[in-house]
Amino acid sequence: MVDLVLGAGGNLKAEHGTGRIMAPYVRRQYGDELYSVMVEIKRAADPNNVMNPGVIITDDEREHMKNFKVEAQVEAEIDSCVECGYCEPVCPSRDLTMTPRQRIVVRRARAQALADGNMETVREIDRAYEYQGIETCAVDSMCVTACPVGIDTGKFIKKLRAEGAGAAESAGWTAAAKMWGPANMAASAALTGAYFLPTKLVQKVTDVARALAGTDTVPQYQPELSKGGRTRSKLGPVIGDASAEPTAVFVPACVNSMFGPQGDGVGATEAFVRLAERAGVALIVPDDVDSLCCGTPWTSKGMRSGHAVLEARVQRSLMEATRGGALPVVMDAASCTHGMIDIAESIGIEVIDAVTYVAENMLDRLPEANKVGSITLHPTCSTTHLGIQGDLEKVADAAAEQVHVPANWGCCGYAGDRGMLHPELTDSATTQEAKEVHHLGDEVHASCNRTCELGLTRATGEDYHHVLEVLEAATR
Ligand code: SF4
Ligand code: SF4
Repeated sequence: MVDLVLGAGGNLKAEHGTGRIMAPYVRRQYGDELYSVMVEIKRAADPNNVMNPGVIITDDEREHMKNFKVEAQVEAEIDSCVECGYCEPVCPSRDLTMTPRQRIVVRRARAQALADGNMETVREIDRAYEYQGIETCAVDSMCVTACPVGIDTGKFIKKLRAEGAGAAESAGWTAAAKMWGPANMAASAALTGAYFLPTKLVQKVTDVARALAGTDTVPQYQPELSKGGRTRSKLGPVIGDASAEPTAVFVPACVNSMFGPQGDGVGATEAFVRLAERAGVALIVPDDVDSLCCGTPWTSKGMRSGHAVLEARVQRSLMEATRGGALPVVMDAASCTHGMIDIAESIGIEVIDAVTYVAENMLDRLPEANKVGSITLHPTCSTTHLGIQGDLEKVADAAAEQVHVPANWGCCGYAGDRGMLHPELTDSATTQEAKEVHHLGDEVHASCNRTCELGLTRATGEDYHHVLEVLEAATR
């Protein structure tokens, strides 16, 4: 049906999606020979041309000039969406609730309902969107990596979370930012306490709290959780070879201090320290390291005032520790590296992930490795954004005879605490990858971000370690 939708300015696109806009150009894009094969296939499958006539395959050179609709302007961040769906396969919530495209389409439908005065529909959309659109978005921004017009739906959802943040929640996160050292230690101690109690009992306690305060506020205790980790300041002022001149500042991620190592592992922080000693390099640890954080929990929850408090403190501390930006900062969790870049690079401080730092500065200074047979890697959304998957594989290659990256790997949706707030998101996001991991049957499993390691441990039943732990063990 031809349908012309007019709004107050906005996007122009074919009513039935981009297929009609593209149709007259398909022959030019693929060439006559391939195009004639497509036409034959279409004819064989649909001799009466009843399925999507004029979409993709058409003889009409003016097809792209017909059946326009103009989308109402909704929000600047998403207005340029052409609803092509390229973002959908990379989205961890695609099989659970919504894809990025659907999150945008529903916002448009809401705007239309509002313009029509259909308040019942607006209320119904708002009610359903809270869980489907907002709470189950991992805000990992994998969608922007696939979008031809550069829409970051994750960033858009963070904005909606910030707009919807309640005063009490916001005040709580601001207080946490002010007291991050003690808050992080308390969380670590609580995890250690919970670890020694029966999992079902702790889950019952968290389930009651979730029923009272909401499932998007209180995490559910999960069986994959380890004991709490070590306090970061116990590392001392310098790590590595005490006789070497420091070449960087090491800020261990607070997530590695909150969650202890998996199984019999030593954890990413301890592995990095041991590798630095072995490679003869030294790194400075800031005096106030216990109070530092990349700010990702605040940005992902839309807690702007708390983030501002934290950002000011981190910038002050890093300026001093890096001697005004003369040294780079190294972090040992990929998501935290990614978050810290936003805080530090604006003041001229370079931030490097520990995996990259080891690949570039330590690999050729380490003793010969006693390699494990095979390793399965889980790259993360942050390794994609940072462009360091090659470094991850390089480090794994130095520690294992065979390195496998599952073709079905994708963002696990654990996203800090989202895998505990909404465990169904990680369960859904990892289904295909877990099947492939079982099929590969490798000896060792690794990633480069503690909470993603927790997510994959739960999904596969295999202990996932940081890849530096695997390298450390292989070069002992
Ligand atoms: S890839 Fe970009 S333009 Fe296409 S549907 Fe997704 S957000 Fe919209
Ligand atoms: S941020 Fe992640 S979960 Fe959210 S829409 Fe984008 S890809 Fe999907």
